Amino acid sequence: MASQEEREAFVTLATNDTYALGCLVLGSSLRRAGTTRQLAVMVTPGVSQSLRDQLSRVFNLVYDVDLLDSQDPTNLQLLGRPDLNVTFTKFHCWRLTQYDKAVFLDADTLVLQNVDELFNREELSAAPDAGWPDCFNSGVFVFKPSEQTYNAILQFALDQGSFDGGDQGLLNMFFRQWATEDISRHLPFIYNVVSQAFYSYLPAFKQFKNNVKIVHFIGATKPWHQPFNTSSGEVTPLPDSGHNAEFLQLWWTIFMEDVQQTLDPNLKTNNHKNNRMSMLTTSEGLIGQLATLKISRDQGQEGSASALSSGERKLNWEKGQIDYLGEDSFVNIQKKLEESLSKPAEPHKPATSPFSRRSPTEETAETAEPTKESKEPCE
Ligand code: UDP
Ligand code: MN
Repeated sequence: MASQEEREAFVTLATNDTYALGCLVLGSSLRRAGTTRQLAVMVTPGVSQSLRDQLSRVFNLVYDVDLLDSQDPTNLQLLGRPDLNVTFTKFHCWRLTQYDKAVFLDADTLVLQNVDELFNREELSAAPDAGWPDCFNSGVFVFKPSEQTYNAILQFALDQGSFDGGDQGLLNMFFRQWATEDISRHLPFIYNVVSQAFYSYLPAFKQFKNNVKIVHFIGATKPWHQPFNTSSGEVTPLPDSGHNAEFLQLWWTIFMEDVQQTLDPNLKTNNHKNNRMSMLTTSEGLIGQLATLKISRDQGQEGSASALSSGERKLNWEKGQIDYLGEDSFVNIQKKLEESLSKPAEPHKPATSPFSRRSPTEETAETAEPTKESKEPCE
């Protein structure tokens, strides 16, 4: 009979290879923090065999989830609601009934200190969302796997939908008593610190920064989109990402030490032709490019060729699709800023607010294809 510790797990999710990278770093961070619990990752057909192999080195369980289970009438009804697809995938965590209790962590979270004490909490425990603290943030939550709850959530999704189009809006309505009923289900903010939040309250960040246990890199740009300087081994946060440089550096340190060498340089990330979730595409070859990164002193390429006109690029900026590793790289942005400073300023439209949550149905900066010339992230 499995011990109590074997019946409790941290659970995460990847629907493509890029998010799988996030899972690998997250899994490593949990191991480094000395967790005694199981690690499980849910993957869809969008994750390649190569990344699945890597995931199985870190996670005890790599669990396949497929949206299209046509035997299930509720699933069939959901097929008519593509907006709920991503939402639906995360909810599969309730089906992991081999565990008595579990903690879901988004793939864009990083564990800085052991958080095994979370298993003392009850369903549904979560930390307040920095944007609307009477809602919980669904990037970190304690739950109890149960087929019954899973079905009830799906039915709720069909009946009510989600007020923000994602899992967070739906879960907050499903577990609506969270806001008022039982304070023990409110996790302290240190269990889900949005990596940009402290810009609005810097003194608190300075005071409490060492208490942070889990960082969450919410928003359209993730740690793996940030330029990494291969000469110095340092990350340079993108101008509009708003992510804290120290936290990004922690992510990249784990990535370079534990993950990067294990990646297959020949891997072209799959383009989801057969993935009927058709959510977010990954950058073609991003994994292969990351796999060939080396810390060395002889780097220094910058700039890239771009097939897009400046009008198209502007439009992409406005949609949040930014060629961060190419034409819109930090170096080029800096040049443009310097040029603009010497002329009367034009109004600047940031791509996203630092606090904006990305709706899962929106495209992300992952569509910014890094070109060959820009494969060394800009310096
Ligand atoms: N996710 C995924 N593929 C996607 C989008 C999301 O696997 O294309 C998973 C992943 O675990 C991710 C979580 O769903 O961390 C929630 O999405 P995200 O973290 O991007 O949302 P945010 O926290 O920025 O609102
Ligand atoms: Mn997230």
